[in-house]
This record gives sequence, C-alpha cells and structure tokens, in this order.
Amino acid sequence: MSPKKKTAKTSIRLVKGMKDILPTEQHIWDFVRSRVESVARDYGFMRIDTPIVEFTQLFKKATGEETDIVSKEMYSFVDQSGDRLSLRPEGTPGVIRAYIEHGMLNQPQPVKMFYIGPQFRHDKPQAGRYRQFWQFGFEAVGDADPIVDAQIIAMNYNILRDLGLDIEVQINSIGDKHCRPKYFKALTQYYKNKKKDLCVDCTKRLLKNPLRLLDCKVKGCQELAEEAPQMVDYLCEDCNKHFTTVLEYLDEAEVKYNLNPKIVRGLDYYTRTTWEIVESNQDGKLQALGGGGRYDELVKLLGGRETPAIGFAMGMERIINKIKEKEVVLPEVWRPDVYLAQLGIEARRKSLKLFMDLRQGGLTVSEDFSKNGLKDQLELANKKNARYVLILGQKELVDGTILIRDMESGVQETVDHKKVVKEVHKRLASKMNDKSLKIKTTKKV
Ligand code: ATP
Ligand code: MG
Repeated sequence: MSPKKKTAKTSIRLVKGMKDILPTEQHIWDFVRSRVESVARDYGFMRIDTPIVEFTQLFKKATGEETDIVSKEMYSFVDQSGDRLSLRPEGTPGVIRAYIEHGMLNQPQPVKMFYIGPQFRHDKPQAGRYRQFWQFGFEAVGDADPIVDAQIIAMNYNILRDLGLDIEVQINSIGDKHCRPKYFKALTQYYKNKKKDLCVDCTKRLLKNPLRLLDCKVKGCQELAEEAPQMVDYLCEDCNKHFTTVLEYLDEAEVKYNLNPKIVRGLDYYTRTTWEIVESNQDGKLQALGGGGRYDELVKLLGGRETPAIGFAMGMERIINKIKEKEVVLPEVWRPDVYLAQLGIEARRKSLKLFMDLRQGGLTVSEDFSKNGLKDQLELANKKNARYVLILGQKELVDGTILIRDMESGVQETVDHKKVVKEVHKRLASKMNDKSLKIKTTKKV
C-alpha cells in the first residue's frame, strides 16, 4: 500500500486516548449518573454546568503552573479572536470562577454544587487513563467547619458504596500557609543529598514545590518518599485540631479510612484535609477512583473574598470499569410494555397511528416496522424483552381487532382494536399483582 493510500485509510478514526461510549454501555453510565444525582439531592447539592472551554489563565492560576496537569497535559489553543483558551482539565476552577462571577457569596453559605462532565488531559493513554474522561465532582463553598469535611467525605464514600464498590478513604492533612513553609524546609533538607536518585521531573519539583515529590509515580522516587518527613508532624495547632476533629467525625460516621501521609494531591490549591478513594484491600499503588480536599485559598486567589471551600472529583471511567469487573447487579434496564408487530401493507400503514395512540395511552412501546415477517418481529420483541406483542394483520384489520401475545406464557388473545390500550393496561396490572409471575427486577452488567 502506498503511503498516500495508508493516510487516506487511517485518517478517519478515533483520536488517540479518546473513547466512544457505546449504546450498549449507556445503562451503566445512566446507573452511575442517577446514583450521583440522587445522593446530591439527599445532601443538598445543586447541579452546575460550566463551559468546557475557559481562559488558560484560570487553570494556570488555580490548578497551578507547576502541576503536571497544567505544565504537560492541557489542551490549549488560541482561538480566532486571539484568546488563549484551554479545554478544562478539571472541574473545580470553572465552578469557583462561576461562584465569584455570579456573586454566590451573597447566598447562604456553604453553596453546595455538583457537576458531571468531560475533562481533557493529554495523559499517557493506558487502562483507566484517557485524554477525554468524565468526572463527577462536588464542591461546598463558604464554610470552614470540620463537620463539612466529614460530611462531604462521608458522602463521597457513600456514593461509591451505593454503586456496589468496596472502597476506603486514604486521608491526610497538608496544613496551610502558616505551617507548610516549615515542612517544605524539612522536605527540602531530606531530599538535599538524594538528588541523584530522583527522576528529572522531581529534581525540578524540589525547587518549585517539594510536596509534588511525594506523589511522583517513578519507583525510585516512591521509595525515597517512604522515609520522607510527614506533614502531620508539622501541622500548626489550628490545622492539627481541624484534622483530628475531621477524623473523630469520620469515626462516628463509621467511614472506613486510612491515614496516608503521601496523599498530597496533584493540584496546587489544596489546604488541610486531602483524601483519595481507593478499592479496599489494595496496597494504595492502584489507580485512585478519585480524590478531593479543602481549598481555603482558591476563591481569594481567583479574585473573590477570602472564602473557605472543599470538594472532590471522581473519575467515571474508572468507576464504571470497576462496576463491570465486579459484575455489580444493576437495576432493570428499560423494557417495552408492548411491541407492535404488523403484517401486510395495510397493517403497516395503520401501525404508525396505533403506535402513537399506545404511547399516548401511557404505554412504553417498541417496533421494527421495516420488517415484514412475524417470526423476525417476534424474535426482535423477545430480544427487547417486551412484555406483550400486539399483532396487527390483514384479518384483524378487517375484523377491527388485534392480537395480544403474552411473551412469558405465549398465550394469545384477540381483543377489540379500539380497546387495546385498556386491555394492555389491564393485563400489566394483573401481572404486577401476580407474585408467581413476578418479573425480574435486576440485571447483571
Ligand atoms: P492520577 O494520579 O491517576 O493521574 P490524578 O491525581 O491526576 O490521577 P485527579 O486530578 O485527582 O487525578 O482526578 C480525580 C480522578 O479523575 C482520578 O482519581 C481518576 O479517577 C480520574 N482521572 C484523572 N485523570 C484521568 C484520565 N486521564 N483518565 C481517566 N480518568 C482520570
Ligand atoms: Mg494525573
């Protein structure tokens, strides 16, 4: 094959690191979204949708110029008006920009918001790591009380447990601007004569933000991090009190957690409480399902008033992969009450209107009007798990009737065409009441 031909053949394809979410997977995505929405309602969080595109400056300022996300992974471009824009790599900066821009500090605090949407990072594609991936995230802005930390962590924990996953919280405190400088000094001192054993990135990180060395994924750096000084030993009185109170509340709430001094998170804005969620019984080396933390300085940094805040973000692909892996039992997928089968040109013509009448009569309906044979249509009805099939043929048209076939028992009855909606409802109601015929209510992935 000539090089030219090869290009032509391969140019229309999925971009590396991107992923199609196919119709066959949508029921799992719906399941996750609906659980997230229901927990959000219970805990009083309202949905917010911010744009996918923001000024690059927002992420440089909020996420941090020295983070991997901003320095290496962002999709940035200059648009036709000359504006420097980026596809959002994470949700929090946009939500906080919106909080400030829409004067939400005048509302009762904390303002509790959640989002569900795609994020973009030029990460190295591998299992559970894509360049467009989905996150859901929760933010509580405007309250510094440790009970807010505990409640949001408990909520984070409960969402994943409600999804059928066995998880635990890895938690840490990274202090605040008062106690962190002393810790940075101790860290820098610790790494001073170990520079030659660090990866290239970490030698740079040592100068700009030594905290970043603790979550480096290179094996040698991880080994060094094991022995590094821990922030919890350097917390000032206020930060220490805040952290111990959060842990006490979590004990009360029976949230499973482990103290992990290396949970420093890959974003610059965190203060005090930080956490990640991992599967239980794993050694922590596994990819996290998500993480969060307090960020008491971000609102001010982005031009707002000094406002404490806390939030988390969870990776949906990683959660969905776990749901598939563990074969979590999902609620029943959509199934039609009736499947409308038609035989002959005249019946097909009448089916369009009948289909609308069935829908308007409150029934869920399905069809494959382009098919001719009854056998084909019955097979499709079976595949779609329809409860009843309505069969409209030439004879029924002439008689003003229609056939109802119960797909579980195979019993067929002729009913008056005009009363068909009522007849189906009657049968559905008696089926629901009949325990012996109770239909399956769950389905494995
Ligand atoms: P990692 O250390 O795995 O790169 P991270 O610290 O960069 O994760 P966060 O910014 O904390 O990730 O994002 C929260 C969650 O979003 C992650 O725990 C993960 O589930 C998900 N996530 C992050 N990057 C990706 C990606 N490239 N593909 C899929 N999911 C991702
Ligand atoms: Mg990352």
